[in-house]
Amino acid sequence: MAKFPTPLRLLHWWASHGVSEDDSDDLRLKKEVMTIVSSAIALLAIGWGALYAVTGYPWSGAIPWSYSVIVLISTLHFFYSKQFDFFLISQQWLILLLPFFLMWSLGGFANGSAVMIWAFFAPLAALFFIDLREAGRWMLVFLMLLVLSALLDPWLAERVRPMPQWLNTLYFLMNLGLGFSLIALMLYYFVKDRERAYQQLQQSQVHIEQLLLTDDLTRVDNRRSLNERLQEELARAVRYGSPLSIIMIDADHFKAINDQHGHAVGDEVLVALARTLQECVRGSDFLARYGGEEFMILLPETGRDGAASMAERMREALWALRVEPLESGLTASFGVTEMHESDDADRLIQRVDAAMYKAKDSGRDRVCIL
Ligand code: GH3
Ligand code: MG
Ligand code: MG
Repeated sequence: MAKFPTPLRLLHWWASHGVSEDDSDDLRLKKEVMTIVSSAIALLAIGWGALYAVTGYPWSGAIPWSYSVIVLISTLHFFYSKQFDFFLISQQWLILLLPFFLMWSLGGFANGSAVMIWAFFAPLAALFFIDLREAGRWMLVFLMLLVLSALLDPWLAERVRPMPQWLNTLYFLMNLGLGFSLIALMLYYFVKDRERAYQQLQQSQVHIEQLLLTDDLTRVDNRRSLNERLQEELARAVRYGSPLSIIMIDADHFKAINDQHGHAVGDEVLVALARTLQECVRGSDFLARYGGEEFMILLPETGRDGAASMAERMREALWALRVEPLESGLTASFGVTEMHESDDADRLIQRVDAAMYKAKDSGRDRVCIL
């Protein structure tokens, strides 16, 4: 607030009267823009009314003055009642009807063409604030009023004194400048609004993607993510002729941990297990939870001996792991294999699975290579 110059602060202070504490950012923005736009037009209308009166069109001047009073009453009513929908509709009618009344009071198209710029506001505001269908309705009313003006034009032109050319030009420039400024203001808010919505969408997309690829419990990647990554790594290894190894890890007798200490402790052990594995892998390796108490690690640029010694280090790290209330560390069975030229993802996983079962069958707590 402090960084705004005083007139803008005043504007903000005025516009914030219609805002309620529990309004969303979006609604707050709409309320403030609508209040500022309608108040600005009402303020300008007072000036116009004075100009008309001074230049000999007192009857025309009465219209903007009455308009300002109605806008003020309607705005105060909105501040007091907080009925934004009613405020919106009434402002749109006022903004739609004002230019036509002005044009008719000035004697038709020739004198009032400049004020017609304002007539474009109602559909624009409807588009911004309400919806496409509403904007269409407003456009229809606008066209009907335009036709009515055309029918009235010859009759009005006979009865009203033409405006001097200089005044006509002055009005025209004034209306053009103000009209464009207000359209620019509305478009500015519109674009800002879209930008914010787009950013929110992108953020939630990233969030959803993360959710889809992450295991809820251990926060490492899940099986879906592993399958995607495995395809990529296989393609890369084939393309560059580089080695690719894979490790499968299955905790030993995990059911017993659940049975003895309960499922919650089992969960904690799984989290600690995943963290320990994650600490052992290198930045280029990829760890995922494959299923219940099974994990997989992809090791690009690594042969089976390198993978086996990594598995051995992990086995020792699990031994050293302490999770309350377990008395000893964990043991797990490790299968290790390296990609063969003819392998696809299924074949590779079948082989590493077989290696892991070999480790189970030969007594658990060990690394087997196939
Ligand atoms: P083995 O040495 O033969 O692998 O024995 P095991 O008990 O580990 O093997 P089994 O596959 O029979 O049991 C795995 C257990 O892991 C059973 C299941 O309840 C448990 N489990 C799977 N996912 C979770 C989980 O998310 N949380 C907890 N607490 N337990 C899980
Ligand atoms: Mg298992
Ligand atoms: Mg197991």
